[in-house]
Amino acid sequence: MSGVILRLDETVVNRIAAGEVIQRPANAIKELLENCLDAKSTNIQVTVKEGGLKLIQIQDNGTGIRKEDMEIVCERFTTSKLQTFEDLNSISTYGFRGEALASISHVAHVTITTKTADAKCAYSLSTALTLTLTRATYCDGKLKTQPKPCAGNQGTQITAEDLFYNVSTRRKALKSPSEEYSRIVEVVSRYAIHNSGKSFAVKKQGETMADVRTLPNASILDNIRVVFGNTVSRELIEVGCEDQKLAYKLKGHISNANYSVKKCILILFINHRLVESSALKKAIETVYAAYLPKNTHPFLYLSLEIAPHNIDVNVHPTKHEVHFLHEDCIIESVQKHIESKLLGSNSSRTYFTQTLLPGLSVSTSEGKPSSSSTGDSERVYAHQMVRTDSRAQKLDAFLQPASKLVPTPTANLNGRSRGEPVTTNDMEEMDNAEILQEQAHGTTDDGEGTSLNTPADLPRKRPRAGQDEEQEELTAAATTRRRAIKLSSVKKLRDDIAEHAHKGLQEMLQNHSFVGCVNPQWTLIQHHTKLYLLNTTKLSQELFYQILIYDFGNFGILRLSEPAPLYDMAMLALDSEESGWSEDDGPKEGLAQYIVDFLKKKSEMLEDYFSMEIDQEGNLTGLPLLLDKYTPPMEGLPMFILRLATEVNWDNEKDCFRDFSKECSQFYSIRKQYVLEVEPGEEEQDAELNSWRWKVEHLLFKAFRSLFSPPKHFSEDGSVLQIANLPDLYKVFERC
Ligand code: ADP
Ligand code: MG
Repeated sequence: MSGVILRLDETVVNRIAAGEVIQRPANAIKELLENCLDAKSTNIQVTVKEGGLKLIQIQDNGTGIRKEDMEIVCERFTTSKLQTFEDLNSISTYGFRGEALASISHVAHVTITTKTADAKCAYSLSTALTLTLTRATYCDGKLKTQPKPCAGNQGTQITAEDLFYNVSTRRKALKSPSEEYSRIVEVVSRYAIHNSGKSFAVKKQGETMADVRTLPNASILDNIRVVFGNTVSRELIEVGCEDQKLAYKLKGHISNANYSVKKCILILFINHRLVESSALKKAIETVYAAYLPKNTHPFLYLSLEIAPHNIDVNVHPTKHEVHFLHEDCIIESVQKHIESKLLGSNSSRTYFTQTLLPGLSVSTSEGKPSSSSTGDSERVYAHQMVRTDSRAQKLDAFLQPASKLVPTPTANLNGRSRGEPVTTNDMEEMDNAEILQEQAHGTTDDGEGTSLNTPADLPRKRPRAGQDEEQEELTAAATTRRRAIKLSSVKKLRDDIAEHAHKGLQEMLQNHSFVGCVNPQWTLIQHHTKLYLLNTTKLSQELFYQILIYDFGNFGILRLSEPAPLYDMAMLALDSEESGWSEDDGPKEGLAQYIVDFLKKKSEMLEDYFSMEIDQEGNLTGLPLLLDKYTPPMEGLPMFILRLATEVNWDNEKDCFRDFSKECSQFYSIRKQYVLEVEPGEEEQDAELNSWRWKVEHLLFKAFRSLFSPPKHFSEDGSVLQIANLPDLYKVFERC
């Protein structure tokens, strides 16, 4: 059942064609505007009613239409702009196919009033082409009404009334008049911006004020200001470049890194035609992505002129999306130019202030540092790149004169290379069997470059060379053999540590960059793009606790240069407010003597397991060496002695080891009440080595990299605070 092929009626053909060219009022306006510009108009005024659906009127002061042409001006394929196909290669007008007026006249009632320079009066022509009239007109080649002389200025006024009066489906499909009107304003204002030197106005009929009006002597920038406002225009950078090889020229105004909008505005003219190029838009947005806050976009007005032989203008009139030869190369070149301009722009700056307080909603629990660790596979964008080499300059360098810089200790001071992480697995594996094995193989005291991953291999397996000169008061006794500890209580305490380790925090500490000490209690570190504030007191206490548990029974000794009488220290402690002593506790002397006697009874165990030496006279002679080169702040010693008697449960093995280790680690930790600042210039170099700053940076934070399993609660209790991250900082500061 094949259908019968018939030739379509010309009216039907024209109506179909018209529907294609003129889809909505804004299309019609664009075509009419282009005609005005082709006619060399310098003043174009658009008036519309009901979003252009009721009335479109466009008045220009161009060349006008000759009286003799009035008859065919609304017919399809009648044009004054093109004669041969070859003319297309050198066409400099918008129009050339002679379809616009015809199309409009097929879907609206068109009236043309026009006057050329040499005509004595204006001629008026009304072509209200209804379905029947259109046919009639074309069959007859006649107009609806003959051109009539009337008064008028030079130029052309074209009105189109009742758009789509004969295409009800199209009319119904259109948006509200206000939506159509805003599209009209958009088209007119974009042409107005591009055609600086000519004045444009667009208004609703009946209104005296135009919604957009540009002046004849205004610049492009003035026009952008008129249309988009001062907030945009004052943040614009002028761009312009030319490439002989790619045969293109670019001019325009683009927003700088200070300005951003929710939606990208790209006003693009290619060879003076308002077009769209999603490829170019995408390329430009990637450039800006590095400069603008997330989900915000730039404003750009760009005028590209491409050699005519590289661009095909003969595409459908409604086709806004364009492609051209060497598109990729030209886009890349434009991209580079824009990037260079953005980098160099500093004409306007807006500073915003933002306060980030530690302890507020910046705890890492939300941002789990572990999740921020990017795998190698993930792409790293420019804004995510940071300095992460910890050997690079630190904050101190900016705070101290160069001569005062603390000497960097030799590598591997602590016997373990940085790259060797201690994972909880390592710790779990660190059982007695392994220690025994280690012992059986007679591990040598080669210290550096040790391949053992267990935390327990510290501090014993370290060279002691030079140690004695540096530690004048306290000498460390070196022992080379590890003792196997088979106590289940110790094993249990080790398991507890491993079980509560926070992998993310551990990864962060392993790979951090040291930034600087804020004070004895707080230290700044950087990890990836984030800045963290760490509670040095809490972290160091936990570190020493873990060392005490893992190195249980295997400590070196920090020998005191002079034995310290426990009695005197207990008295000192009781005298301090911190002890909380009251009359009810009985006389201090009795308490002090009790403490001495008690600790003397425990001395054998303390020495054996914790290298804490107490002599027969009740003097403290040695303390455990927990971290090479590290001496505890001795100001805390009296309180430590007192608390050993009051805070430790000596009756239960596991509790006793745990409590002792807690008290001892508290004594060893960096606490602000027990650190004394070394006055610059006052003391010798090695005094600086003993300063808390040096210890924090070179001993503690080094140990945090390798010897530490931070417990989970650190991420919640404020011990680790995230105070800034780079992406957010980009929103605060502009790149310099
Ligand atoms: P095209 O622009 O492709 O030539 P149009 O249908 O848009 O086709 O216009 C047909 C012809 O009408 C133009 O070639 C031009 O000679 C004339 N014309 C239209 N509008 C104007 C105007 N505003 N001023 C002068 N001439 C015009
Ligand atoms: Mg035209």
